[in-house]
Amino acid sequence: MHSLLLTQGRVIDPANEVDSISDLLILAGKIAGMGAEAKRKAPADVELFDAEGLVVCPGLIDSHVHLREPGQSAKETIATGTLAAARGGFTTVVCMPNTSPPIDSPATVALIHERCEREGVVNVFVTGAITKDLAGEELAPIGSLKKAGVVAITDDGHCVQNNDLMRRALEYAKMFDLPVLDHCQDYSLVTDGVVHEGYWSTVLGLRGWPAAGEEAIVARNILLAELTGAHVHCQHLSSAGSVRLLREAKSRGVTISGEACPHHFTLTDAALGGSETFWESDGEKLLRFFPAGSLPPKWPSYDTNCKMNPPLRAARDREAIIEGIADGTIEILGSDHAPHCNFQKEVEFDYAPFGITGLENGLALSLMQLYHSGRISLSSLIARYTINPARLLRLAKGTFDLGADGDVTVFDPNLEWVFEREETCSKSQNNPFYGWQMKGKTIATIVCGRIVWREGKAAPGLHSRSPSSKSVPYEVAVP
Ligand SMILES: [Zn+2]
Repeated sequence: MHSLLLTQGRVIDPANEVDSISDLLILAGKIAGMGAEAKRKAPADVELFDAEGLVVCPGLIDSHVHLREPGQSAKETIATGTLAAARGGFTTVVCMPNTSPPIDSPATVALIHERCEREGVVNVFVTGAITKDLAGEELAPIGSLKKAGVVAITDDGHCVQNNDLMRRALEYAKMFDLPVLDHCQDYSLVTDGVVHEGYWSTVLGLRGWPAAGEEAIVARNILLAELTGAHVHCQHLSSAGSVRLLREAKSRGVTISGEACPHHFTLTDAALGGSETFWESDGEKLLRFFPAGSLPPKWPSYDTNCKMNPPLRAARDREAIIEGIADGTIEILGSDHAPHCNFQKEVEFDYAPFGITGLENGLALSLMQLYHSGRISLSSLIARYTINPARLLRLAKGTFDLGADGDVTVFDPNLEWVFEREETCSKSQNNPFYGWQMKGKTIATIVCGRIVWREGKAAPGLHSRSPSSKSVPYEVAVP
């Protein structure tokens, strides 16, 4: 069991309204005290961590991650995905069920739990499918999934189109006290759209994915949450209309919430026209993060690393998402980390899969777009990555309560760095932010008192929970 005394950091624990320079003690893997109490209770031989000048907060939770195991381990594995999480400052990730086979049975949940226990660098919580095979036709065994330990149900990557089936899913979920996470996409409106329907889809001749295709399902979810009393959490919201609908519903007390991803509040569909187009128009404000005189990174038009689902939208949508985060409409941030192999992305735009990786750069982009831009405080940013997702998913995480798990993220909000492809820990490199100047970096990631990531290096021997495990996840990044 691990003990650690973090000294003189800026301890921010939004759940307990703490924001002060303080020591923090972890004893035998659990939070044991803060301030004078920490010093007093610390054993003489405790390991010390000098956190002066750094933020010390409850371990960050990424509520939306695709770990790709089982079945798609060419893209990512539990070992590489959780190492990327550790590098990004996340002590906990919540994995989505669109694996192969999908997580629609207790056996698959057990398999993932077992593998995470052996190979996971950070904590992993599992979500189960809403429908069998994510096909949207027949409910998955929701009660058995709950018994097997899932923390929510979702068909992420897919969306249940049949409203009655969704209603029944919500009724079951409520009985089992499970939140329902929904990827909001109306198939009849979106059809085979690949990018936001607007100016750029017209200019580039790409099929449009209208914002209404998301908003129609957000509205449906609000109505069904009201009807059933179940909690629906709308994943990766991308459009201004979705934020407006959510704001109105929440003001009436409907059991609904929303998630935003850093790429949706950083990039816009102008990025599809190539880097020059983006930097000259919607990217202008981001240029201030680059050193004077340096050239921002370049990418071509039709870059498949700008293809995700839901798509990058217009500047007004990006602003509405930030506004929604700032006013509390959107309470949770998640990466939608979606690794794909190079050969899968290196094809014509239409044929490339949707999605980008995001675990390693999500915190930096959030700090840049939300905190350094003056839109929200550091404490409310941290809440959106800690106590808020913990409450939604009923995880005993996300706080520095006495006796809580000793999960801690230590980061420097002002450290400037360049996000380099070569340093990626994920097995995949489908990420549009390589070469970007970032502001804010994880210095250490601590799981139950153990340092599993320290700036500049993974902690060898600590990333794997079992001494017998042969995997060396941090050596697999090079393709
Ligand atoms: Zn999704």
